[in-house]
Amino acid sequence: MRIPLLAGNWKMYKTVAEAVEFVRRLKEALSGVRGVEVAVCPPFTALYAVARELAGSNIALGAQNMYWVEEGAYTGEVSPVMLKEIGCRYVILGHSERRQYFGENDENVNAKVKAALKHGLVPIVCVGERLEEREAGHTEEVIAGQVRRSLAGLSGTELAGLVVAYEPVWAIGTGRTALPEDAQQVNAFIRHLLAGMGGREAARQVRIQYGGSVKPENAAELLGQPDIDGALVGGASLKVDSFAAIVRAA
Ligand code: PGA
Repeated sequence: MRIPLLAGNWKMYKTVAEAVEFVRRLKEALSGVRGVEVAVCPPFTALYAVARELAGSNIALGAQNMYWVEEGAYTGEVSPVMLKEIGCRYVILGHSERRQYFGENDENVNAKVKAALKHGLVPIVCVGERLEEREAGHTEEVIAGQVRRSLAGLSGTELAGLVVAYEPVWAIGTGRTALPEDAQQVNAFIRHLLAGMGGREAARQVRIQYGGSVKPENAAELLGQPDIDGALVGGASLKVDSFAAIVRAA
C-alpha cells in the first residue's frame, strides 16, 4: 500500500553535462518499471537542466538542501520557492553530512521541513545514530530525539505525506550496511514514534526509507523488510546500472 521511494542522493557529484547524460540513460533503463517511485537529487547547479530532461517521465526531481526563507539577503542559499518553480518534488533535509559539516541541527531541520511543506515540497528527513551511539546502546534514544525535534509541530496529515530516511551514520559511504533486521527494527521504531505524534493512520501511510551503503547486492533483502519503504542511495546512485538494479530489486 505504501509505494516504495528509491531516491538517488548525488551529493557533490556530476556536472550539468554529466547529469543530463545520466538521466537520459536512466529513463531508458527504467522504462517499463512499475510499482515504485524513483527520484534523483542532483546538486543545485544541475537541477534545472535535469528537470527539463525529466519532463514527461515518471522520474521525480529532488534537491539536497534548502533554506527556510522564501527570499532575502541570505548569500549562498536557495529557497523553497525556487526549488518548487523548477519542478522539484522532493528535498532532502538534515542529511548527516549537513549535520556534521554545516552545522545543521534538529531545530533548523524542523524550520526547513515546515517551509518545504508550506511550499508543496515533500521533505525527505534524514535521521541516524553515530557508531559510538549505537555501540553504547543509545540508538533508540538518539533516533527518538531527532524524530521528535525535527518533526515537531506537524499535523498527522503532514506527517503522513513526508518521507523519513533512516541512515545510520556509520553505514553512509563506508560499505558497511546495517543488517536488514536491524534496519527493520529502527524503521519500525520510527513508525511507532510517528504513531504517537500524528496518530496510527499517519504512521501507516508515512514512507520510511533506509540509507547507508545500499547496493544492488543488498537492496532486495533490505527493501523486503515490512517497514522499509524504499532507499536513499548515495554512491550506488551515481551509476545508471547499479541504481537501475536497486530500483528493480524493489
Ligand atoms: P551511500 O550514501 O549510499 O553512499 O552510503 C547514502 C546517503 O548518504 O544518503
